[in-house]
Amino acid sequence: MSGILQLCATPIGNLGDMSPRILECLQNADLIAAEDTRNSLKLLNHFDIHTPMTSYHEFNKVEKAHILIAQLHEGKNIALITDAGTPVISDPGEVLVRMCIEAGITVTSLPGPCACITALTLSGLDTRRFVFEGFLPREKKEREQALKRLENESRTFILYEAPHHLKGTLSDLASSLYCGGDRKIALCRELTKKFEEVIHTTINSALLRYENEDPRGEYVLVIEGRDIRSIEAEENAKWESMSIPDHVAMYEAKGMDRKEAMKAAAADRGVSKRDIYSALEKEK
Ligand code: SAM
Repeated sequence: MSGILQLCATPIGNLGDMSPRILECLQNADLIAAEDTRNSLKLLNHFDIHTPMTSYHEFNKVEKAHILIAQLHEGKNIALITDAGTPVISDPGEVLVRMCIEAGITVTSLPGPCACITALTLSGLDTRRFVFEGFLPREKKEREQALKRLENESRTFILYEAPHHLKGTLSDLASSLYCGGDRKIALCRELTKKFEEVIHTTINSALLRYENEDPRGEYVLVIEGRDIRSIEAEENAKWESMSIPDHVAMYEAKGMDRKEAMKAAAADRGVSKRDIYSALEKEK
């Protein structure tokens, strides 16, 4: 019978957050796959766990997954841990989980600390609907595209950031998310640690603050989504500046037939198809 892949969340700064269930799992596993074995050795030594370890990281994620799956097929139970927090969330593991599922291996998750959820709960922002974005891409074009997508995001969204990139990221957020006014942001640092700090402010005020202060520690940024009313107001203003015939013609140019184009224009403007028809008749 095949073994099980067990995803084990580890503390993000406070060793007291290591759960008894995860300790038992790490103790009893045949093998622990760790993102950085040297780093994890400290954690495992602290808890007197001496299970054999192997590395599983970004740069060996496919080849090593094949090796781990072969061991799982032999009946070994393997625990996956990363440097801190929940594996697979902005951390290695996604490929391994997918390949295990495809290979018919049972995967289970032992929940525990996760920086994004911890930050969200402390943000004071809308938690009913949220988006996790992880790290913004560093490559210029991909980053611009990601910021563009976020411009009209109405849900609360969460970013991870390292201290040396924080100022740049705040500056990019300020220049991309200006529509609808300055946004609330919660800057969450050193979560679960002695000097945990959550700064509830706005994007522009955060930029000013870090003009005179160097960011320290890892950050989670929780950002207010755009007010849906300001998106609607902007949309309406856009259509008001366009005549109804031009509006219908715009959709026809995109390949719609006249009937579909009239329906789409009516929906955009919040008017009936009869109104669109009358405007087109007047134009004749
Ligand atoms: N898988 C981990 C999780 O979900 O908790 C996240 C791993 S990701 C490589 C590391 C990022 O998580 C950091 O750059 C930071 O944005 C965030 N992070 C991790 N620990 C944190 C902490 N104690 N306080 C604030 N942010 C933290």
